[in-house]
Amino acid sequence: MSNRRQFVTRSALLALWPVVARQTVLASPSSLPSWSNWSGGQTCQNQALLYPQNEPELIKILKSTEGTLRAVGGGHSFSPLVPTRGTIISLEAMNGLIDHDPKHLQATFHAGSRIAQASAELWKVNQGLFNEADINVQSLAGALSTATHGTGRGLQCLSANIIALKLVTAQGDVLNCSRTEHPDVFQAARVGLGALGIMTEVTLQNRRSYFLREQVRVMSISEAMLYVDQNKDRFSHIEFMAFPFGNRAMVKTLEETQSPETPVRESWLDENTLLEFAANTAREHPWSNPGLQHLLGMFVSDSSRVGPSWKIYPSTRAVRFNEMEYQLPAAVGMQACEEVMTAMRQHKLDVFFPLEFRYVAADDAWLSPFHNRDSVSISVHQYYRQDYHPIFAVIEPILRRHGGRPHWGKLNTLNGRDFQEIYPHWEDFRRTQRQIDPRGRMLNSYLRRILA
Ligand SMILES: Cc1cc2nc3c(=O)[nH]c(=O)nc-3n(C[C@H](O)[C@H](O)[C@H](O)COP(=O)(O)OP(=O)(O)OC[C@H]3O[C@@H](n4cnc5c(N)ncnc54)[C@H](O)[C@@H]3O)c2cc1C
Repeated sequence: MSNRRQFVTRSALLALWPVVARQTVLASPSSLPSWSNWSGGQTCQNQALLYPQNEPELIKILKSTEGTLRAVGGGHSFSPLVPTRGTIISLEAMNGLIDHDPKHLQATFHAGSRIAQASAELWKVNQGLFNEADINVQSLAGALSTATHGTGRGLQCLSANIIALKLVTAQGDVLNCSRTEHPDVFQAARVGLGALGIMTEVTLQNRRSYFLREQVRVMSISEAMLYVDQNKDRFSHIEFMAFPFGNRAMVKTLEETQSPETPVRESWLDENTLLEFAANTAREHPWSNPGLQHLLGMFVSDSSRVGPSWKIYPSTRAVRFNEMEYQLPAAVGMQACEEVMTAMRQHKLDVFFPLEFRYVAADDAWLSPFHNRDSVSISVHQYYRQDYHPIFAVIEPILRRHGGRPHWGKLNTLNGRDFQEIYPHWEDFRRTQRQIDPRGRMLNSYLRRILA
């Protein structure tokens, strides 16, 4: 799916944001500021929403407030990672490239930078991220704290590429962390859920800048599964989106190319408008779902485009949804995917949004869902105006039975004991978290529950 036209608008909004955010919002008792995530599924009243302009200001906030503290990035997590009744801190104003090393292809950013900004700034210094997610409006700190990923058999999640990070603890102490400096805090904070402190800077290992060719092919689901299975090593990035009731799938591949950038093509029909229309119609008239899913395959035709990686990676997701995603051992991926789609049909689940299937390579961050395991990522989505519980209740047991670990930023029902079973370093994470934040100020009720 493409988003070329909207990129300019989004970049402009991102550029404006620090101006908008240049004030510290403190609550009067009668009007506690509220916060909501992107999907609207998580909301909370807060004592304060604060936007420090720099590190000294952040430290002053940490030392002068009481109660729970949570960092927020782009607010694009579906899970209850942010909500507080205390203080939410946004590093939106602490953004931008700080330094770069042309020899080792590393770059240090203020951690509040959005991925869109970071990857565009990297392009100017002839560097590129190894991979990106489906969208690029997350903050670096938020994406890293949840092991955000793209797709590709040989490509790891973003957290795998952290060389060093700077963390300000709840007490206001500044820790520079790497594999050699505070190594335990480093391993925990690479996918830290915002539970250890506020990440203010991060150094990433990157690669030389590159162009990508994107190809989208529309086919039946069985053709798509076969194509992806047979070509998973041919393309650096490969994934499919399946509409199980209409038997249509979109296979998306990316590969590096030396070809020149293709001109932006204007489409007479915006794909988000089409999606919103179809999701609403299927919600109001569930009988129309198979036909609409099949028709969507006719509206979305095969396409190809070339451009700098940072322009090709992101899609625009303007139609809101809620999502569950699990990372499964790569070997069981296709079978699990088949089972999920069969269950969706058998239970006649009332959902228009597609299932998404991607690959992610293993890493060694303690709480990475890809810890020591090459994985496939399977996700299911529900339109935000519809109840997601019936769908997720059917699908989650299947994904768990296949050894799945949930995406930290997406919805799941696991508790602390479940996480202890699926993460070999769960206890190391808990120990490190307690050492660095003994009063538990960085924990909201969700984190207190799972880390208890
Ligand atoms: C439309 C959409 C598409 C998505 N596509 C993908 C995808 O392709 N791949 C994928 O893996 N995920 C995807 N996600 C999930 C998303 O990448 C993650 O949930 C990510 O965490 C969101 O980043 P954020 O900046 O919005 O963080 P938030 O949701 O604001 O925060 C996430 C976590 O990071 C912590 N945090 C934020 N800032 C800091 C800081 N400065 N210091 C310490 N902790 C901090 C927060 O406390 C919280 O625990 C998608 C989500 C949406 C809504």
